[in-house]
Amino acid sequence: MESVAELAGRLAAVRAAVQAACVRAGRDPASVTLVAVSKGQPVAALAAALSLGQRDLGENYAQELRDKARALAAQGPRWHFVGTLQRNKVHLVVGTATLIHTVDSVPLAEALAARARRVLPGGQACLVEVNVAAEAHKGGCPPEQLGTLLDAISAQGGALRCLGLMCIPPPCSDPEASRPHFRQLRALLEAERSRQRPHVELNELSMGMSRDFAVAIEEGATLVRIGTAVFGPRPHKGNMV
Ligand SMILES: *Cc1c(COP(=O)(O)O)cnc(C)c1O
Repeated sequence: MESVAELAGRLAAVRAAVQAACVRAGRDPASVTLVAVSKGQPVAALAAALSLGQRDLGENYAQELRDKARALAAQGPRWHFVGTLQRNKVHLVVGTATLIHTVDSVPLAEALAARARRVLPGGQACLVEVNVAAEAHKGGCPPEQLGTLLDAISAQGGALRCLGLMCIPPPCSDPEASRPHFRQLRALLEAERSRQRPHVELNELSMGMSRDFAVAIEEGATLVRIGTAVFGPRPHKGNMV
């Protein structure tokens, strides 16, 4: 792992860039939460980030989340699950993650709600991931199925609560290429917000990563998911504890 001083420098630079983007967009910096995506990073790096006041951490793999959550329980992080979630792994994530960003199908929503009914009386908070660019072989609910999925979440009686939407635009070196996808996600949020549903409150937009978070903030992101710009390059893919 790189030194705590290097991590502190990166984190300060990212915080400053988030703040600057908010100012440019005329937004209150308190309206944007920085989620430091720590997948593949060793527990020591996460502990260092927590010691620097970075409470919100994002993980992509259910087992890795479970193991890191156990190791870091004393530091009280807020965990965000941002990876593809399989139905047979929901028990590792429900109740551990403060927010699950990647609900993308009715069967997954039902599995999460069933687990939450057993272990989490207040219900599990989530976002719906939308496949904004209609990419084949990619997670996310097709935009035309969003209404049906939100209806299904609402029908869980509060075991699952949807707070907003999330997207991962196609990777591209030009951050401007993400802008139309971010706009589309915001338009979907606003369109669905006008249809009131119990347990669905659409206020959050999880969008923007290391390369395009400034554009995402300009387009209304409330949660930015930033990995490499905070932690540096990922040493390993997955399951590194
Ligand atoms: C890895 C990952 C991130 C962070 O990506 P960086 O480019 O390293 O900032 C954000 N969101 C999701 C869903 C990820 O898988």
